[in-house]
Amino acid sequence: MKHTRATHHPKLDCGPYGCNICNLFLCTVCVGAEGSLPTDCPGVRMTQEQEQNVYAGQLDYRDGKGWCTPDGEGDSMGDIDVRMSPGWNR
Ligand SMILES: [Zn+2]
Ligand SMILES: [Zn+2]
Repeated sequence: MKHTRATHHPKLDCGPYGCNICNLFLCTVCVGAEGSLPTDCPGVRMTQEQEQNVYAGQLDYRDGKGWCTPDGEGDSMGDIDVRMSPGWNR
């Protein structure tokens, strides 16, 4: 499933620069944010360990695949790392 972006009330004025909810992509389901977001949403709250491993680029979650190792084809931190590593040319 897709991540569910956290939003606050549209009339809540958080100033010209926005707040963390406006500026960061935070998922209300798995509670991942920015660097700790897997490619797809696991649909449940991640454990702290899973979140840390996603952030460290060692873990990703894909629909149909489940928890897996980043291979450069997703959008997690680890996938970006793989795409930036020399020798990756797909
Ligand atoms: Zn999510
Ligand atoms: Zn805001």
